[in-house]
Amino acid sequence: MFSAMHNSTKNIYQAVELIKRSTYTVAFTGAGISVESGIPPFRGEDGLWSKYDPVFLDINYFHQYPEKSWRLIKEIFYDFFGQARPNAAHFALAEMEKKGILHSIITQNIDNLHHKAGSKQVFEFHGNSRNLLCQKCSEYYPVKKIDLSNLPPKCLNCGSILKPDFVFFGEPIPEYANSNSFIEAINAEVFILIGTTGEIMPASLIPFEAKKNGKKIIEINVVPSNYTPVITDIFLQGKATVIMQQLLSTLTGQKI
Ligand SMILES: [Zn+2]
Repeated sequence: MFSAMHNSTKNIYQAVELIKRSTYTVAFTGAGISVESGIPPFRGEDGLWSKYDPVFLDINYFHQYPEKSWRLIKEIFYDFFGQARPNAAHFALAEMEKKGILHSIITQNIDNLHHKAGSKQVFEFHGNSRNLLCQKCSEYYPVKKIDLSNLPPKCLNCGSILKPDFVFFGEPIPEYANSNSFIEAINAEVFILIGTTGEIMPASLIPFEAKKNGKKIIEINVVPSNYTPVITDIFLQGKATVIMQQLLSTLTGQKI
């Protein structure tokens, strides 16, 4: 027990040294960072896919049965996820950006919690649930401005069905987020993986791109992941909220 604690403290200091020396640090986040905000992951025993058939997020199904698809989308992503608040890990990342320690965040999450925490430079690899997009005239609407009591919601401009601006199964990764995420992976001197296990393609390739370019990889996860034995330089085992608070307080010279 003592030695495990000792090692994790030592690892925190090593991680802090790397981050302090780095002139370009990027964070890469996955479902694990939002679990403590009450958002279940998609995969795994208690994941969304154990309760819902993922077909409702298939783009062809959506086009064929927009109302059916929208009923679940509203329930999960707006009624339920919409209530979620950022946690200490999201706030620590926003604080690191404000202090100039963190350059950007690449996230696989569509829950908007990095934005809600105040992070500015966020590349949303799988899009976001803040906006709805008209499939016909490409008009964007903040979801706040659209009445979801009448499903499916329609474009105020042309009357076509609106789709959440996140990536459905069968859709490509948005070009802007895709190219910028890989550019950030190349630019980064230190790349911090948080709450991501490397199972979702093609997002899972981004950390390998960073490593390929000789970067230092810090990993924060509750258990070792696919990345740990292969590319991770410093593994910080624990909850994202706990580890991120330790990292931030050590970085900024406050007592842990
Ligand atoms: Zn339209």
